[in-house]
Amino acid sequence: MRIGVDLGGTKIEGILLSPSGEVAEKIRVDTPAQKYLETVDALCEVIEQLQRLSLPKKCSVGIGTPGALSPSNEYGLKLMKNCNSICLNGEPLKVDIENRLGYATRIENDANCFALSEACYGVAISARTVFGVILGTGTGGGIVIDKQLHTGPNRIAGEWGHNCIPNSVRELIAQDRQCYCGRTNCNETVLSGRGLKQSYLERSGIDLEATEIARLANSGDVEASETVKTYCKQLARCLSTVVNLMDPDMIVLGGGLSNISQLYTQVPSLMNEHVFTDNMLTKLSAPKFGDASGAIGAACLWPLD
Ligand SMILES: [Zn+2]
Repeated sequence: MRIGVDLGGTKIEGILLSPSGEVAEKIRVDTPAQKYLETVDALCEVIEQLQRLSLPKKCSVGIGTPGALSPSNEYGLKLMKNCNSICLNGEPLKVDIENRLGYATRIENDANCFALSEACYGVAISARTVFGVILGTGTGGGIVIDKQLHTGPNRIAGEWGHNCIPNSVRELIAQDRQCYCGRTNCNETVLSGRGLKQSYLERSGIDLEATEIARLANSGDVEASETVKTYCKQLARCLSTVVNLMDPDMIVLGGGLSNISQLYTQVPSLMNEHVFTDNMLTKLSAPKFGDASGAIGAACLWPLD
């Protein structure tokens, strides 16, 4: 058994994962709102409870978080960065958890955990190279090769959400978009839920949530359908740059917007026009795991023992 914990903005979910990928136990608690030390406490309590359930054996522990762990700073500390749960930023989360538990853990961002869960036990189980994309509040990504996460010295591998959109996507938005990271026209400003919302607002003058736009598109509403059609083009053009770079066997979409069914029927052929090959063989797939992917992927940060 391995323990995987997903630290989300509202919930902490911890699981015991069997060697065959079954969730044997699951614990969910509320995430303490914007309180760092209470968040550490809550995480450790969930982990300790799962360790008791797995007795007499002690399990490895992987944790999925928003943002990422920085490389060591000048004091040798690895601090959290890029988290949308702001209270984690600048905090030594890994060290604090390990000091409290008394053993080593592994921490990765939630997009990496998502990609790993799908590569190890999900739709991408037969794929050698996998690009996992989260299309939700933000636009994250993770790269898995031979069921191993690729991270890199800056620990930002797969963070394609903060690449600049291609010119062919700039043509599809009314005006430049500011990203929270300080740059302009990041992929995330177009492909996240907020991006879709902005595109619908530009087209219709109406401010709706992304989930509502997707629902209206499915019910045949013209403005919403056109917005989703454009979103498919935007996604295809942004993803074609990923295919040119890493040529993955499979791209798996996750996050709230991955429920939009048109993505799977329209995006592959649209990508074909932009990828540097005549017949693209990369598969685009919906995920197997929904909200459970974070905890499953976190458990997979350690090899089976
Ligand atoms: Zn950005």
